[in-house]
Amino acid sequence: MSRIRLLPETVASQVAAGEVVERPASVVKELIENSIDADARKIDVIIRRGGISLVRVIDDGCGMDRDDALLSLERHATSKIRSAADLQAVATLGFRGEALPSIASVSRFRLSTRETDAVAGTEIIVNGGKLETVRDGGEAPGTQVEVRSLFHNLPARRKFLRSENTESRNIEHQIHLQAIGHPQIGFSLMRDDRILFQLPPAATLSDRIRDLYGVELLQRLAEVIDVASPSIRVYGFIGQAGLSRQTRTQQLVFVNGRAIESSLIIAGIREGYHTALMKGQYPVTFLFLELDPAAVDVNVHPAKREVRFRDPNGVRRKNFVHPAVRRPFPGKLFLT
Ligand code: ADP
Ligand code: MG
Repeated sequence: MSRIRLLPETVASQVAAGEVVERPASVVKELIENSIDADARKIDVIIRRGGISLVRVIDDGCGMDRDDALLSLERHATSKIRSAADLQAVATLGFRGEALPSIASVSRFRLSTRETDAVAGTEIIVNGGKLETVRDGGEAPGTQVEVRSLFHNLPARRKFLRSENTESRNIEHQIHLQAIGHPQIGFSLMRDDRILFQLPPAATLSDRIRDLYGVELLQRLAEVIDVASPSIRVYGFIGQAGLSRQTRTQQLVFVNGRAIESSLIIAGIREGYHTALMKGQYPVTFLFLELDPAAVDVNVHPAKREVRFRDPNGVRRKNFVHPAVRRPFPGKLFLT
């Protein structure tokens, strides 16, 4: 007797959501990535009760016409890759076409979008994966996604959420990552009707670090300037000896604009600091690696938090931290 069944679309989406949407901060991450990929200049995030009762992300990006807006909610529907070959060199933050349908399958979801020159926009309401309403929308050009009652139909997942405070802090951290990774974009966060920060578009990374963390921190950072390797370029800022944290929250590493966790790079950083970093302490880094998209595989982690380097030895050979960082106030560090 046959026992195998194809899962209904909504169930399949909920299964996918289990991987992509771990917590409210994952929703915020996916939505902001979409806004960045849509060339937004400004991204506003509004959350309530740790993002569990509400996440709203508003951008001024390219928007979608009605057909695309409807299609964006289908699984594996994406404008970012077209073929297996494109998967070899992903140049956007998203590429799987999974986030929107996944999120919509585990929340009360509203998408409102309008292309720049369109006379009218489109508003779509989905409830637990079921399409409820499609109508004209009158919002400004760009896209607004509203996610309410996250996991209302997935009690098992809801139970694993932490306190509202912790979830809010996760969201805040997520926006910090994106804001540091994309200084040219303005960001704001409103939590339970209070504005937590408003970051104007910044001309440089150091301006963004200052706007987010203050000039005191900036003064204790050294700028990393790569004058060597043409295939991997490293730049950014790293904390001078004596500046460290008890958690990893300010040890930020970006590969082609994507915040990632990489044991390879973290080991390289630690090696660079050598004895200047005490056990159990983490350095402050805003390190950026730029390399050919074809040299990095981003399709390895469900939340795209890790990448695989095609030439890990090349990355390993890089000095991420110049020994001069162990001296006070070195200013600029030239990697050779
Ligand atoms: P992916 O980002 O992997 O393509 P998503 O499910 O996140 O998959 O989004 C599906 C598609 O919807 C995107 O490829 C994009 O074309 C469109 N889209 C999503 N969010 C936005 C947005 N904020 N602005 C414009 N288009 C968007
Ligand atoms: Mg996406």
